[in-house]
Amino acid sequence: MNPDLSVPGHPEVFVIGDLAALKDIHGKLLPGVAPVAIQEGTAAARSIERDLRGKPRQNFHYFDKGNLATIGRSAAIAQFGKIHISGFLAWLSWLFVHIFFLIGFRNRIIVLIQWAWSYFTYERGARLITGDQRLPSWERLRREEAQEAKKRVSA
Ligand SMILES: Cc1cc2nc3c(=O)[nH]c(=O)nc-3n(C[C@H](O)[C@H](O)[C@H](O)COP(=O)(O)OP(=O)(O)OC[C@H]3O[C@@H](n4cnc5c(N)ncnc54)[C@H](O)[C@@H]3O)c2cc1C
Repeated sequence: MNPDLSVPGHPEVFVIGDLAALKDIHGKLLPGVAPVAIQEGTAAARSIERDLRGKPRQNFHYFDKGNLATIGRSAAIAQFGKIHISGFLAWLSWLFVHIFFLIGFRNRIIVLIQWAWSYFTYERGARLITGDQRLPSWERLRREEAQEAKKRVSA
């Protein structure tokens, strides 16, 4: 991708957020985290604005404001420059920052209620099953499907 976040040969297409693979000034790939996605979104919008005004685009530069990540129930890690905190205080900062950056009061209240519900009821928001979860019957189904396909081709 180009340094202005556009796709080579397609100045009208931008790649931002988790889909983008861009290096910082030290040559390290930018992480797939929310602050990177937010800044890339703003940069892409600015480029479109500059196109409309007939001004040249500017390259994207990530400004590292810090990182926040939850690592469990009531536990998180936070890094703002040289300040590193972890545990409950970091988790409270994570909660505050994520709610604060949501657009609109209604969204903030809805997300807060959903998170409070999950927190007190221990309900999981989403479950991902990863890894090799093949069942023996799936092999049989695949073979049957392949045989059916062969029959259709030869018929
Ligand atoms: C479990 C988990 C925990 C994380 N924790 C943290 C954290 O603590 N701190 C942090 O900074 N980052 C965290 N991240 C990473 C962060 O969520 C992502 O980096 C960020 O959300 C990327 O933003 P995005 O806009 O690229 O993608 P998303 O936020 O995924 O947005 C993509 C949107 O596009 C929508 N979409 C998809 N397909 C279509 C379609 N065909 N048509 C229309 N809409 C569509 C999706 O519904 C979604 O709303 C976490 C990620 C995960 C999965």
